[in-house]
Amino acid sequence: MSKFESLGLNESLLAAINDLGFENPSEVQEKAIPILLEGETDLVALAQTGTGKTAAFGFPLIQKIELNSRTTQGLILSPTRELCLQITNEMKLYSKYEKGMNIVAIYGGASITDQARQIKKGAQIVVATPGRMKDMINRGIVDISKIDYCILDEADEMLNMGFFEDIKDILSNTPKEKSTWLFSATMPKEVSTIAKKFMHSPQEITVGAKNAGASTVQHEYYVVGGRDRYPALKRLADANPGIFSVIFCRTKRDTQRVAEKLIEDGYNAGALHGDLSQNQRDLVMNSFRKKQIQMLVATDVAARGIDVDDITHVINYQLPDEIETYTHRSGRTGRAGKSGISMVIVTKSELRKISAIERKIKQDFIEVKIPTGIQICE
Ligand code: ADP
Ligand code: MG
Repeated sequence: MSKFESLGLNESLLAAINDLGFENPSEVQEKAIPILLEGETDLVALAQTGTGKTAAFGFPLIQKIELNSRTTQGLILSPTRELCLQITNEMKLYSKYEKGMNIVAIYGGASITDQARQIKKGAQIVVATPGRMKDMINRGIVDISKIDYCILDEADEMLNMGFFEDIKDILSNTPKEKSTWLFSATMPKEVSTIAKKFMHSPQEITVGAKNAGASTVQHEYYVVGGRDRYPALKRLADANPGIFSVIFCRTKRDTQRVAEKLIEDGYNAGALHGDLSQNQRDLVMNSFRKKQIQMLVATDVAARGIDVDDITHVINYQLPDEIETYTHRSGRTGRAGKSGISMVIVTKSELRKISAIERKIKQDFIEVKIPTGIQICE
């Protein structure tokens, strides 16, 4: 019996898991799935990025859905459009052998009419961003008054992004008798407030840092002169021809500018930020996922929660203001137990910030010298 079988998952899920090539459950899956399958309970699950949280709630949710009914039974809230699409796609893969399962994504920046049409056909599971969800409830397009399961995914990110009020409003439209499953990487005050306010004596599970993606990440920094960030970035790319990376900038403008320069200089690069249309963002994300783009230059907001396999380098072109943001950025690599490098391009005057991050993440940075042109030619 495979480990997935012993968790109590049904045949069609096991077949889908087999197709996905998942051999063993991750720790958060091993802990959460039996609890969620067994009874109707609220759950708070804390696990770092890249530990497989989507399947930890996705498998049990799919198994609990009543396929003979077309009523909306499960709602998954997630912080960004990209994540919302990503979760929807994953859930569709997980439920590929469940006949009659309909999963619909609801997010801003795309046609509300199309989404309404899909909802009308009957969706047992709705995956939504809070803003658009609220809008669709207010317009009477989605009815969540009969849901049995409400999942708050990446709860810390959603609250970071200021969705507290929206979440409150959305939850007030759900029935009292339902199960709420909250998944988060961290447990800041706002998350425990939500848990206390909206959950009934939730069970709690925590997955230790030892299995988290973050522990497979090596942190490095390069010291450069103030004007040398861009040349340093190019040399990094040249020294790592197989690079597949997300490059973080502080502003939409810098993001656009760095991406344009890279493209001009002949690199496979693309920009992802909030000034692009949803269509442009989807195109860039799809090309990145297919590895047609090797270097995705992004703002923090646009890149939240992105789960793309095999990212070799996360590059902090500029350091974020918040240390927490650094943790989220570096979590884009080293996922599912793979190794990755998180590098920071810093000026001498920013070196203090590196020590602050080291204390916070309890890991040391390695100083690396950027190879010169000559070294690269060798
Ligand atoms: P999180 O939400 O915790 O950040 P995800 O659910 O996005 O993590 O999963 C991270 C990656 O790990 C995804 O690419 C997913 O397909 C993969 N994954 C999840 N569970 C397993 C598993 N049991 N075995 C192998 N890979 C897995
Ligand atoms: Mg996730």
